[in-house]
Amino acid sequence: MQITVCGAAGEVTGSGYLVETQRARVLVDFGMFQGRDASVAKNRDLAKVDPRRLDAIVLTHAHLDHCGRLPLLAAAGFRKPIYCTAATADFALLVLYDSAHIQESDAERDRRHFQPRHRGEHPPEPLYTREDVEHLSGRFRAVAYNELTEVADGISIRLVDAGHLLGSASVEMHIQEEGTTRIIVFSGDLGSANTPYLRDPTPFTSADLVFLESTYGNRNHRPLEATLTEFEQILKDAVRDGERVLIPAFAIGRTQQIVYYIAQFIRERGLAPIPIYLDSPMAIEATHLYARHRDLFDEEAGLLVKNDPLAEHPKTLQFSKTADESKQLNNLRNAAVIIAASGMCEGGRILHHLKHNLWRRSVHVVFVGYQAEGTLGSRLVGGAKQVRVLGEPVNVEAEIHTLGGFSGHAGQSELIDWLAHLAPVKPRVVLTHGETDARQALQHLVQGRFGIDAELPMRNDVISL
Ligand SMILES: [Zn+2]
Repeated sequence: MQITVCGAAGEVTGSGYLVETQRARVLVDFGMFQGRDASVAKNRDLAKVDPRRLDAIVLTHAHLDHCGRLPLLAAAGFRKPIYCTAATADFALLVLYDSAHIQESDAERDRRHFQPRHRGEHPPEPLYTREDVEHLSGRFRAVAYNELTEVADGISIRLVDAGHLLGSASVEMHIQEEGTTRIIVFSGDLGSANTPYLRDPTPFTSADLVFLESTYGNRNHRPLEATLTEFEQILKDAVRDGERVLIPAFAIGRTQQIVYYIAQFIRERGLAPIPIYLDSPMAIEATHLYARHRDLFDEEAGLLVKNDPLAEHPKTLQFSKTADESKQLNNLRNAAVIIAASGMCEGGRILHHLKHNLWRRSVHVVFVGYQAEGTLGSRLVGGAKQVRVLGEPVNVEAEIHTLGGFSGHAGQSELIDWLAHLAPVKPRVVLTHGETDARQALQHLVQGRFGIDAELPMRNDVISL
């Protein structure tokens, strides 16, 4: 059998693995390439993945860099099942419809400015459309954690909780070939311990081959408690001054975690019940999906839901669905938290709030996630005194805070602890989903701790077993 690494090899986006045996072809994830090295051409290139010859797809979780290219396969004729948890199916459709909408609007904008450089040059087409996503919507097959499920001839999978996003999974793949069964483990993205709502990642104890993510292969996170103390103080200052706190955040995951922490501060740390406005249709939808899948919550979140301080103070959490409701937030006169996308301030409703508030001295802007280079978010975090927002220059007088302790990914020592459960059986280890520095640092550590020479493949490299 052989496994082709389709992406996230020497980078952190575009995850995908094509597993081929004599009898079947199964794809694990097919994510979008994003950021610095991404391009439409790179995303369009399906390489060895022939969608009509696939028997099944297994999806670890709903982040765009893991599911974002699935609609391309639908457009090219893929009509087989996609196996994942029920929560992942729900979140993936939310993410993919949003992505298709962005692809369509970007292409529309580019078409308006299109000037052919030579005869016969076509105007830009969207990477995919909402119609392509529609084709996928009936393909999802919900699989519960820990159940062994046959997905193709001679190939079964068992999903376990990866603790990275609600419904996220690591995959244990059992492959029968020539009378023997071999096990391949795909870590998917692994979460960090003590993330709100999420159980800790489940380790494995047997495998012949392991694909391990290495996003934070070279460092550990800042302690969470220090971050929470800082966050609590910002909120208390805002309540005292009757001021607003703007939080640019990703709609799925981080937004719900931030609301969770504020609820916890109100219940356990004496924070006054400050109104929280979710100003993002996608974040509102994702929050409803969290409620629908509360059976996946960890014990602590289960308890918080039972004694929910936000339910005791019904005015605390409010949803701004329409653009009008969003605009009305400009008239707020009391302390309030406004959470809006996008997380890196590259678009979305957060831009309007920044335009109306950045120049005000006592407003707080709180960054709770990674800010890629070149984004408005990174300029603000970097201390810019003036920025352009929606085409206009705005002076930055607001207090900019960067909270570094929240992370969706396991830190270096957590990756090593996860692998320690497998190390005694000496599997082949392949490190993916990490920038070069992170992968090499983890490779070094895996050699030192376990005496295993981990492999670092590049895109389209093939691993034979
Ligand atoms: Zn992820």
